[in-house]
Amino acid sequence: MWNLFLLKIKEVLSEISYETWFSETKLIGLEEGIAKVLVPSHIHKKNLKENYIDDIIEKFTEVTGTNFNFEFYTEEELENKIVLNTDEIGIPASNFESNLDNRYRFDNFVIGNSNKFAATSALAVAEQPGKMYNPLFIYGSSGLGKTHLMHAIGNFIVENNKKMKVLYIPCDTFVSDFVDICRKSANENNMESIKQFKNKYRDVDVLIIDDIHNLVGATSAQQEFFNTFNELYNNNKQIIISSDRSPEDIKKLEERLKTRFNWGLQIDILPPEFELRMNIINKKIELHGQDNTFPEEVKEYIASNCVGDIRKLEGAVTRVYAYATIMNGSDITLDLAVEALKDFFVISFVAKNKIDQVIQLVSENYNISAEDLKSKKKTNNIAIPRMIAMYICRIYLEENLTKIGIEFGGKNHTTVMHAVEKIKNEILKDEALNNEIQKIINKIH
Ligand code: ADP
Ligand code: MG
Repeated sequence: MWNLFLLKIKEVLSEISYETWFSETKLIGLEEGIAKVLVPSHIHKKNLKENYIDDIIEKFTEVTGTNFNFEFYTEEELENKIVLNTDEIGIPASNFESNLDNRYRFDNFVIGNSNKFAATSALAVAEQPGKMYNPLFIYGSSGLGKTHLMHAIGNFIVENNKKMKVLYIPCDTFVSDFVDICRKSANENNMESIKQFKNKYRDVDVLIIDDIHNLVGATSAQQEFFNTFNELYNNNKQIIISSDRSPEDIKKLEERLKTRFNWGLQIDILPPEFELRMNIINKKIELHGQDNTFPEEVKEYIASNCVGDIRKLEGAVTRVYAYATIMNGSDITLDLAVEALKDFFVISFVAKNKIDQVIQLVSENYNISAEDLKSKKKTNNIAIPRMIAMYICRIYLEENLTKIGIEFGGKNHTTVMHAVEKIKNEILKDEALNNEIQKIINKIH
């Protein structure tokens, strides 16, 4: 948080004043409306208090969204009051496989109003793992940067503290690891692999679990996750969790897990506002590092047409570049972009009939392929959208059950009937789901 603040204050000061007065400051506490700052000397203290305080408050409020009062301390003043723990925690993590992807970093995460709170909390946790917010629960729909932020936290931690063991794991991997162990231990006595499993997840300083909504339906894995959570939490190890919805909205997640998720901080990432979309496009262009100029109107065209998903926003930029290359390196113009993206923004698929159209819309909505939706796969991320699609075909298009079954890859009409009943019941209890389905139906118009 302080680093973000310093970047901001640096912009409004001359280089020399920044270097003199701010470069050696540190945020050492943030509680009850008071920000405590460590400064190198009494002169700093006096000068910051008397000459810079307005700028400091203004810029810090921009970063945190909260108005803090400031107290400044010198090292001497602190000595008797606060013991700074500079000991590095943990054991050497030399051969440790953290699964971190180091392309995802804080410095290439573009910040706007919709994700500012998420980014600053993430950085706060990265700077003080296990101390600031535990667990940190990040939620928001697909493509808004949850995975990016989680890797950024992990990378930040390992880069600043080589001894910390950080483990990033998609929830599905946790579940399948666990299922493996259960299967094995049914056959033989395998204390050793159980021990390995526990070590993998519990002998870490930071556990990052992505897409926790996939834990739904895996009852015994939930139990095991609960135990893992408790053990890490009790040892002040940092836990970071992401989900495509808030804990309250994860149906069938055990109450006691929800309660624990409430112990820390829950932050949601919202869909990017126009300005953020423009900034991300600019960043993406910068990374492409190509000579072609990318006219403002093309950026605006993309930003206006691509609203809810940053992954798709990036895809659009790449596509325009690729198209320009195919056209023998011609200039990027609005006409070219419209042509390049004509299938990208609308449904990129010619539907043979209404059912096909629903399959397409629903699969786009959930970021899965139409093939998956027609497959026999039973994981929730596919099975639930499939049931929703069947429901829409039946209730909204009033299609015949057998015909729906055929279009969904040859399913029995009773399968379709059960799916329709299930969703009917679900939406009575789940308003968010109901709204989501309405949104899809509106798109059919
Ligand atoms: P989620 O996990 O929420 O589905 P991801 O973290 O996978 O989303 O993000 C999708 C893509 O968008 C990634 O390539 C990521 O780097 C990019 N992205 C998301 N948010 C931002 C951002 N604020 N700045 C830059 N890139 C972003
Ligand atoms: Mg993700």
